Amino acid sequence: MKKQLKILFLASEVVPFAKTGGLADVAGALPAALKRLGTDVRLVLPLYRVVREGRFGLNPIFRDLKVPLAEDEIVAGVQETRTGDGVPAYFIEREDMFDRPNLYGNSLGDYYDNLERFSFFSHAALRAIEKLSFKPDLIHCHDWQTGPVPALLKGPYGGVPGLGKIPCVFTIHNLGYQGLFPAEKLSVTGLPREGFFSSEGLEFWGKISLLKAGIVYSEAITTVSPAYATEIQTPEYGMGMEGVLGYRSKVLYGILNGVDYRLWDPSSDSHIPANYSRQDMSGKRLCKERLMRETGLDPGLREKPLLGMISRLDLQKGLDLLLNILDDLLAMNVGLVVLGSGDERIQDAIQQAAARSPGQVRIEIGFNESLAHRIMAGVDLLLIPSRYEPCGLTQMYALKYGTVPVVRATGGLKDTIVQFDLKARTGNGFKFLPYEPEAFLEAIAKAVRLFQYQEAWKTLMLNGMEADYSWDRSARSYLELYRTVISESSLRGNRI
Ligand code: ADP
Repeated sequence: MKKQLKILFLASEVVPFAKTGGLADVAGALPAALKRLGTDVRLVLPLYRVVREGRFGLNPIFRDLKVPLAEDEIVAGVQETRTGDGVPAYFIEREDMFDRPNLYGNSLGDYYDNLERFSFFSHAALRAIEKLSFKPDLIHCHDWQTGPVPALLKGPYGGVPGLGKIPCVFTIHNLGYQGLFPAEKLSVTGLPREGFFSSEGLEFWGKISLLKAGIVYSEAITTVSPAYATEIQTPEYGMGMEGVLGYRSKVLYGILNGVDYRLWDPSSDSHIPANYSRQDMSGKRLCKERLMRETGLDPGLREKPLLGMISRLDLQKGLDLLLNILDDLLAMNVGLVVLGSGDERIQDAIQQAAARSPGQVRIEIGFNESLAHRIMAGVDLLLIPSRYEPCGLTQMYALKYGTVPVVRATGGLKDTIVQFDLKARTGNGFKFLPYEPEAFLEAIAKAVRLFQYQEAWKTLMLNGMEADYSWDRSARSYLELYRTVISESSLRGNRI
């Protein structure tokens, strides 16, 4: 029998404790799936105000963790609880760092001291391991906030018994967030200039990049889909990191995120007006009718395709393409429901455009979990024209709901959506490649044409509903990678 692995997850947000995006979903669901596979997995994250106020049953276990920060040593607490899935979670407590209204910043921008906050968090996590009876075989770090950890293990903590030789896997959830800070603040990280601040190290065009630290100093790097793993090694998608990622390509893996079907399954979803499944699709029609009524769309459009979009309003998500083709879409006599929150300028632009045709287009601004489910079930087509998409979750949810995705063929969208082939009756959606309004419109037009042929459309929906992107499969891939990294680094005596 294989030895039970001990894995420590370091992440700056984890469902159900604190969330701003997909990272939290992954850092919540993956440990639970790993635990189901027999791994002893535990979490470390900051004790934010939302956690303190969230009634998670925290218990203090240390009050006097000594943590270096720049030239000082400051004291932190550690509190402990378990997730609903029974995964132990440790919280680094330090009010002046983490007891704030938000996780990373406010409407004016990032908090001015994020370098201090996440360098501190990285050191504190390592110091906590020293005091815990839990000795991980591997540390799994996520995104720039935990990038210092692999570097610290190769530098100042390298000789610490029981700690210095722990290998790291680093996961990039979105290359757009690079953890950039001024070079003169390097001492805050506790890393020496020599051996670290260079183009082979964490320097990125004269700045510190904590994301690059994670990429350079970890034993293996993963990202959240195979296609994105390839794309980020090219200038088009690499955001300046393509060189270092190419250099590390032998240890760069793409592992697709999973879906939590306990939350996203039309046969059990409590947010939607009628449940349905592959065996009995009748509820989907009711979901569409109710959604049209709820959003005030013209009932005369009931037999026409209803299009939806559920998205952060960010340049990444391709909303400029949607705005560009809005008039043509309306001319096709379809309905459209958009749910989004984020960039105010994008909000204003789509609200203005939609105001001209209230019976045909409805824009809902804000973050609304329940409405997201009702849209997912109620629309016929889900539009995802992203500029880039590390994995993307909404297209995978859409498949399960018999909602046909129209996606740009990039990243995880490219990996999960297969163009429908009318003759062979294979495929699960529609794809386009050039980031151009015409290409997007043409893909939608194809879908709208097929919608008239209800039998073919039903095959397309059922093809999508068959897909299984449960976390179990992804967790097995991570487990295999952990085992490879652990055995290779013990062979090498953990020197990279
Ligand atoms: P990203 O992490 O880049 O935002 P993903 O597709 O990976 O994109 O994940 C987006 C998640 O956020 C999905 O669960 C989606 O349903 C949800 N979501 C996005 N915008 C909203 C919104 N305005 N209201 C509710 N849920 C939203």
